[in-house]
Amino acid sequence: MIVVMKPGADKDHVDHVVKLVREFGLRDHVIYGTDRTVVACIGDKRSVDKGAIENAPMVERIVPILSPYKMASTEVKRERTQVEIGPLQFALGGEKVGIIAGPCAVESREQLLRIADAVKAAGCVGLRGGAFKPRTSPYSFQGMREEGLKLLAEARDRTGLAVVTEVTGLETIDAVVEYADVLQVGARNMQHYPLLESLGKVGKPVMLKRGMSAKLDEWLLAAEYIIDAGNPRVILCERGIRTYEEYVRFTLPLTVVPELRERTHLPVVVDPSHGTGHAHLVPAMSRAAVAAGADGLLIEAHPDPEHAASDGAQSIDPKSLGELVKSLRKVAQAVGREL
Ligand code: PEP
Ligand code: MN
Repeated sequence: MIVVMKPGADKDHVDHVVKLVREFGLRDHVIYGTDRTVVACIGDKRSVDKGAIENAPMVERIVPILSPYKMASTEVKRERTQVEIGPLQFALGGEKVGIIAGPCAVESREQLLRIADAVKAAGCVGLRGGAFKPRTSPYSFQGMREEGLKLLAEARDRTGLAVVTEVTGLETIDAVVEYADVLQVGARNMQHYPLLESLGKVGKPVMLKRGMSAKLDEWLLAAEYIIDAGNPRVILCERGIRTYEEYVRFTLPLTVVPELRERTHLPVVVDPSHGTGHAHLVPAMSRAAVAAGADGLLIEAHPDPEHAASDGAQSIDPKSLGELVKSLRKVAQAVGREL
């Protein structure tokens, strides 16, 4: 349930409600909006004396939360969550669409700095690049690991771009937290609940990719794990789902973008690279995603896609990235956004 405070309720009023809520054995999440504060209460409500809370000073009303994901739902918070990323504190989920681009994997200093410069020059706000790679085969390149993280940090210092990189397991959290600005949870890990809970305790934004066979509700409940554990800075990333179709690597369901914008206040990013698997499909699907209302894009770009260590076929080159961002500006403008 949500306890809606009256406009003008101060910290003492809210603290008093929080105290009552805890006395009834519920967990609380206080959400400060622009004109109202609400206290979302999670837990077994059977032993709660609702009257005691309803009659507390400056409480307006109590509303039940019907959706299974409580904290991620627009029922609890209608205002869109803006997640600030990187040294320039770009607000993902705000008016501006944010483009994050970079290689699938960090391969060398030269490769990373070349693409980082191109990503910056194109007008992007973030640099992606895997240091720990979750590969389908144990014999494929597994990433440069800590050395890759250090190169990403160097690229951030040089460009000001926010570094987005994947955390593949519990044992790599500390290292990734030390170097990254946004911690990416890969599709294969969307339901790694101990990992999600641990990421609820770190002080950095988390980009949660949709599992390749996860339903929308399962994805939002995975986000709920992170928020409920204490980290509200969650960004959702659609990266395509598994279907019977074979001309694409994954099927990119862009209908989730408007649907998510109704169901959740969290920023929504689309990955048209894994979502198609083919570089020639990336520009059109990027434009379609922005037209559909995406807050950002996660795009694989490589200085030499033909020789990429992973995902070369879906990676675009620096020139295509520059042209793509230019065309995205027009699309953003057409739908009332900026880029
Ligand atoms: C990636 O971003 O390179 C990646 C491994 O993505 P996903 O988890 O969506 O497959
Ligand atoms: Mn990849």
